[in-house]
Amino acid sequence: MQYDVIIIGGGLGGLTAGAKLAKEGKNILLLEQHDRPGGCATTFTRKDFTMEVGLHEMDGLHPADGKLKIFNELGVSDRVNFLPVPEFYRFFNGRTDVVMPHDKDDAIAMLNEIFPGEEAGIEAYFHRLMNAKRISVLERNKPDISIGKYLDSIFTDDEIKLVVLGNLGYFHDDPYSLSLQYFSMAESAYFHGRANFIQGGSQQLSDSLMNIIRENGGKVLLNHRVISVNVKNNRIESIHFINTMPGDHTAIECKAAAYVANAALPQIVELTGGDAGNQLEKAMEQQKIGASLLTVYFGFSRSLKALGHKYYSTFVFDESIRSMRDIRSNNRGGFDKRSFTFVDYSQVDSILAPDGKSVGAICCVDYIDDWARLDKKDYRNKKKEVESIFIERLNKLIPGCKDHIEHVETGTSSTIQRYTLNPEGAVYGFAQLPGRKPVDLSGILDNLHIASAWGKFGGGFSGAIFSGYMTALEMFRK
Ligand SMILES: Cc1cc2nc3c(=O)[nH]c(=O)nc-3n(C[C@H](O)[C@H](O)[C@H](O)COP(=O)(O)OP(=O)(O)OC[C@H]3O[C@@H](n4cnc5c(N)ncnc54)[C@H](O)[C@@H]3O)c2cc1C
Repeated sequence: MQYDVIIIGGGLGGLTAGAKLAKEGKNILLLEQHDRPGGCATTFTRKDFTMEVGLHEMDGLHPADGKLKIFNELGVSDRVNFLPVPEFYRFFNGRTDVVMPHDKDDAIAMLNEIFPGEEAGIEAYFHRLMNAKRISVLERNKPDISIGKYLDSIFTDDEIKLVVLGNLGYFHDDPYSLSLQYFSMAESAYFHGRANFIQGGSQQLSDSLMNIIRENGGKVLLNHRVISVNVKNNRIESIHFINTMPGDHTAIECKAAAYVANAALPQIVELTGGDAGNQLEKAMEQQKIGASLLTVYFGFSRSLKALGHKYYSTFVFDESIRSMRDIRSNNRGGFDKRSFTFVDYSQVDSILAPDGKSVGAICCVDYIDDWARLDKKDYRNKKKEVESIFIERLNKLIPGCKDHIEHVETGTSSTIQRYTLNPEGAVYGFAQLPGRKPVDLSGILDNLHIASAWGKFGGGFSGAIFSGYMTALEMFRK
C-alpha cells in the first residue's frame, strides 16, 4: 500500500507529527516496535502500581506556551489532565536544603536571603531566563558558551551555582559542556509555566495521540519494527518492516511520498546503510550522543505523605560536590555518591497507586559502558547492588520509607536502549553542546523529516512534541 507519510517510531515526536498530519487529512502509517506507544513516555504495571517510566516534570503550559496551543488544536487537552507540581524542586546536599519555587520573584527572594552578596548575579540570571527567547535572538551572532562558564561569570559563591543547577540532570551531565542558550530556554519554560505531571502517567498522553491518529484515519502498528530504509536518488523509496511478535517475520515493503524519523538518528544511519548512510553519518559527525538515566522504581505500601514527606521532587547532591567542576566526575563515580532525584508521585497523583499506597522513583545520570559489557548474571547482581545503595540513601532522606517498599526494580541505560533502540540509552537525543547546530538532512535524503529529541528542539517532552508538530507544519509548507 502507498501512504502519504510513513513514520518510523511512536515516541512523542512521531505521535505528535502523526496526529497533526492525520488531522490534516494525510494518509499515514506509524510503525512502533514496542507493544505500546510513547517510547520514553510510557508506563508499566507492577502489582497494583502504575509505574511512570520517565516523566518527572513537563515544563510550560502557560497561555503563551506553544505546547498548550498544540494540545488544544489536536484535542489532547480534552483527554489528558495536567497536574501542576507544587514546587519546582527541593535541593539538598547536606549543607543547603532549599525549595526552588516556580515563581521567579519567590525564587529571587529565596536566593537573595540565602546568598547575600549575590544580588547582582541573581538578577542577571533571572533576567536571562525570563527573556531567554529575546536574548537568544539578540545574541545570535555571539558565540554560545556553557552554562557553567556563564554561572562562573555572574556568581562568586559556588553553592548558589549548585542550587540553580539542581535539575541539571533533566538536560545533561556536565555544566561545562551544556549550552547556555539551550539551558536558558529550557529552564525558563519551568519558571514561565511551572512544572506539570500527567494524571495517570505519561502513557495517557501517548495513548491519546495514538487514538487521535487512528480516529483521523491513520494507521498505527505496534510491535512492528522498521528494519531497512531503501534509498534511490537522494530519496527514500520504501522501507521494510517486520512484525516483532512470535510467528511470521517476513519483511514487508511499504512506500510513501515522505518519511518521518522518530527513531534515533544514529539508528536511521544504520537502517539506511550504503552511500546515503555514510552521508547521513557524516552530517552527524559533530554531534555527541546525550546522557542516559537510571531509574529505581518504587511501589510503597503507604503514602509517603502519611510518613510526613512533603516534596514532589528532591534533588540530592553528595556533600563532596563543592563546585560545578565536581559534577561530571560525581556522575561518572560510584552510585553511593552519585547525585539523584527522588520523585514522590503521591504528592500530586493518587491514581498511580491504590488508596493509602504510593509510587516513587529515584533517577540519576547513567552511562551504558557501566552495563553493556556485563553478562546477564553480573548485570542482575549489579542492578540489585545499585538498588540497595539507593534504598539506603532514600531511607536517610525519608526515614522509615524502606520499611514500606512493596515493590522495587531498576531500569538502566541498557533497559532504555532495549525498549527504545536509542543508542547508549540516550533519552535527550544529541547532547546540547554550546553552539550545537541541528543535523541538516537536505541534499542527503530529501523526503526524510526529523520528529524527535534528535531534532532541532532537543530532548524532553517539550523538545520532542515541538519537533513533531513543527516537522508536520514544514511538510505541509513543502
Ligand atoms: C527515565 C527518564 C526520565 C525522563 N524525565 C523527563 C522529564 O521529567 N521531563 C521531560 O521533559 N523529559 C523527560 N525524559 C525525556 C523524554 O521522555 C524524552 O526526551 C522524549 O520522550 C523523547 O521522545 P522522542 O519522540 O524523541 O522518542 P523516544 O521516546 O526515544 O521514542 C522513540 C520511539 O521509536 C521507536 N523505534 C525506534 N526504532 C524503531 C524502529 N526501527 N522501528 C519502529 N519503531 C522504532 C521506539 O520503540 C520508541 O518508541 C525522561 C526520559 C527518561 C527515560
